Amino acid sequence: MNNTNTIFKLAVQGVQQLVPYTPGKPVEELERELGLSKIVKLASNENPLGPGLKVQQAIKNTIAELSRYPDGNGFNLKQALSEKLNVTLEQITLGNGSNEILELLARTFLTPEHEVVFSQHAFAVYPLVTQAVGATARVAPALNYGHDLKAMLTLVNDKTRLVFIANPNNPTGTLLASDELQAFINALPETVICVLDEAYFEFVDQQNRADSIAWLEKYPNLVITRTFSKAYGLAGLRVGYSLSSTTIADLLNRVRQPFNNNMLALAAATAALADDEYLAETLELNHQGMAQLTQAFTKLDLSWIPSSGNFVSVDLKQTAMPIYEALLKKGVIVRPVGVYEMPGFLRISIGTKEENQLFIDALIDVLSNLK
Ligand SMILES: *Cc1c(COP(=O)(O)O)cnc(C)c1O
Repeated sequence: MNNTNTIFKLAVQGVQQLVPYTPGKPVEELERELGLSKIVKLASNENPLGPGLKVQQAIKNTIAELSRYPDGNGFNLKQALSEKLNVTLEQITLGNGSNEILELLARTFLTPEHEVVFSQHAFAVYPLVTQAVGATARVAPALNYGHDLKAMLTLVNDKTRLVFIANPNNPTGTLLASDELQAFINALPETVICVLDEAYFEFVDQQNRADSIAWLEKYPNLVITRTFSKAYGLAGLRVGYSLSSTTIADLLNRVRQPFNNNMLALAAATAALADDEYLAETLELNHQGMAQLTQAFTKLDLSWIPSSGNFVSVDLKQTAMPIYEALLKKGVIVRPVGVYEMPGFLRISIGTKEENQLFIDALIDVLSNLK
């Protein structure tokens, strides 16, 4: 134990104090614990459709090549992204999930002297990557569970290097108005990198979307991150990307591992990007599922935070943990958000119609047993 402690203290301060990220409970784990076979997981904002057929075919076609290293520059995927999003290849950085990009940004721009600004209730990875490099987090209080851009701006000073904004935010689902967001970026000093995390971009209604890619031309300090984990249904393969000025992309490229995206992931993401039908089906299912869940909440006299993502956080008006545990016993995994300073809420990912109904039935049961 003594030995362990000595070693432990060798770690950099930030790492010693880190609390590891808690992922949603894996289905297999709950199956083992309860001996249940029918488990519904609505905990990690994954795509309930499973991977599309075109993706599956692309993976099969790639298997024979697996003894080779993947393309370290991800040319095919970058080419496809470039055409679809109207950016140059040099503006794109691929990551092992967009989480890796967030980490690369921290490692590229932060030292223990620097500060990072983000919002209360914002995505849990922002404090993690900040602390891991020993930088200081400045957390702005939320406004109606969303980003208070004015409050965030007041925290920016000479030491600030990064600002993280999730739009829509996870776990609240809140969305910023495009003009307010642009005004915020415009007000930032050029020496502060603005990381606009658009992991749920595809779920946002067309008329509410920020035209953030167009802003890249004007703001060399803007980084947009997106992912194949949510709408494109590839969470298990880990592919995300950022769009930025070529300078930032060049810096991130120096820090990343040479083969940070594996070959199956690159092939799958390229196929997923071309599968418009799958995306349309995903968005339609999400739309219907959101209505299904929120109608059930209304009937139960529960309020929720209006969400632009593929999940919704419901206010249980009591400590959510016992309800989370009771749902688990019924084979329904959702996400407690106590670590996000929302102890009275549960975040529910939108599932298939059947999955949503199983959750609703379980919730009704659990709440009536509590009375
Ligand atoms: C899910 C999520 C991500 C991305 O995760 P990856 O799987 O690493 O791409 C990024 N930001 C937010 C806010 C998320 O919820």
